[in-house]
Amino acid sequence: MTDSPHLETTPDDATGARSWRDLPAVQQPEWPDSQALRDVIAELESYPPLVFAGECDQLTERLAAVARGEAFLLQGGDCAEAFDGVSADHIRNKLKTMLQMSAVLTYAGSVPVVKVGRIAGQYSKPRSKATETRDGVTLPVYRGDSVNGFAFTPESRRPDPRRLARMYHASASTLNLVRAFTTGGYADLRQVHAWNRDFVRSSPSGQRYEALAREIDRAMNFMNACGVDPEEFRTVEFFSSHEGLILDYESALTRVDSRTGELYDVSGHMIWIGERTRQLDHAHIEFASRIRNPIGVKLGPTSTAEDALQLIDRLDPERTPGRLTFITRMGADKVRDKLPTLIEKVSAQGAQVVWICDPMHGNTFEAASGHKTRRFDDVLDEVKGFFEVHKGLGTHPGGIHVELTGDDVTECVGGGDEIFVDDLHQRYETACDPRLNRSQSLDLAFLVAEMYRD
Ligand code: PEP
Ligand code: MN
Repeated sequence: MTDSPHLETTPDDATGARSWRDLPAVQQPEWPDSQALRDVIAELESYPPLVFAGECDQLTERLAAVARGEAFLLQGGDCAEAFDGVSADHIRNKLKTMLQMSAVLTYAGSVPVVKVGRIAGQYSKPRSKATETRDGVTLPVYRGDSVNGFAFTPESRRPDPRRLARMYHASASTLNLVRAFTTGGYADLRQVHAWNRDFVRSSPSGQRYEALAREIDRAMNFMNACGVDPEEFRTVEFFSSHEGLILDYESALTRVDSRTGELYDVSGHMIWIGERTRQLDHAHIEFASRIRNPIGVKLGPTSTAEDALQLIDRLDPERTPGRLTFITRMGADKVRDKLPTLIEKVSAQGAQVVWICDPMHGNTFEAASGHKTRRFDDVLDEVKGFFEVHKGLGTHPGGIHVELTGDDVTECVGGGDEIFVDDLHQRYETACDPRLNRSQSLDLAFLVAEMYRD
């Protein structure tokens, strides 16, 4: 990541940074205390940026390579981060899983991997209902730790704007550790075995990874013996991303970049707009259109080619490769049917967007036990469908967007180290959607690497 000597400043209204306020915004909490909200916004506006504008531009450049078909985007992390998950163990395990997946994809798929975490800011959740009822008691739904608490009590579920400041601090300490891990030696490719140490004996995917790590070692020893010891092996570029959902927060962290006079949302490198908030005439798209960060937009099975084309006009009027990523989440049973028209019409229009596959959100169901879950086979099948469609059209399957954790949870069923429906209760820890555990994540990386190579 590049350093920027420039200081960003807080924008005034003339910059358009707050134009979203004139438009309808769905999925926003009903804050009970507007003075407390104003206070916290003022506080956030005074805080230093979490990321530099120059780093956001660098990610746009990396994504431009993905758009050209020269690299692959791995975007992954929790569905919802939690304040009590800000611990060295959790962060390291997640990072380790992403680094292992990336090593598999780079080596077995022979492609550079752009690594973007759903991390250091993924604290806000869109929900299908505003309230939740249990045993005859109705309370506001949990909207993520940035808004209210997970516990089902009136106090905890009451939206509290002070949580937006906690979100900033939780993101800052997470990002600080991520930066230390990725530049301070831990992500050095010579650690390719160390990332697997606590894992190898217990799992088939861990053993498969170990064999690959041995090959990487051999290749590195060979290069070393030839006198090649590239700096690129020592550190890793790792970017942060989250859904830009709570606009009071995102807007309070928007700054004018003094290099260019442009607006950047400095709460994370990449911001995406979710399936429920991508209405063209609403506040989220307006906000996203004003900032220069690379932007993702989720496209579900009801998206039309017209929607996609209008999103391009709004968010990428200059057709800058890397600026816009479409994150398709069709469902395994619909991807082969729905995706081709979208890609064809967008390609015909000449926009170079990045296409990536979120194989999670179209494949969620409720198990008999009441757990929200996903079948690993469905996840895999959607990715397969995504690759087939791109292959058929001669376009580039640019990457995957997955919900994962480095911990051995039991939230999704299937995988090589199989988890059964009856196992779900054992370690079901997500605050929102079911995540792939480490073993399932590695399985997926091996299978995607095969698809990429074929
Ligand atoms: C998510 O990514 O966690 C999410 C809510 O996705 P979507 O907007 O695609 O439903
Ligand atoms: Mn989710």
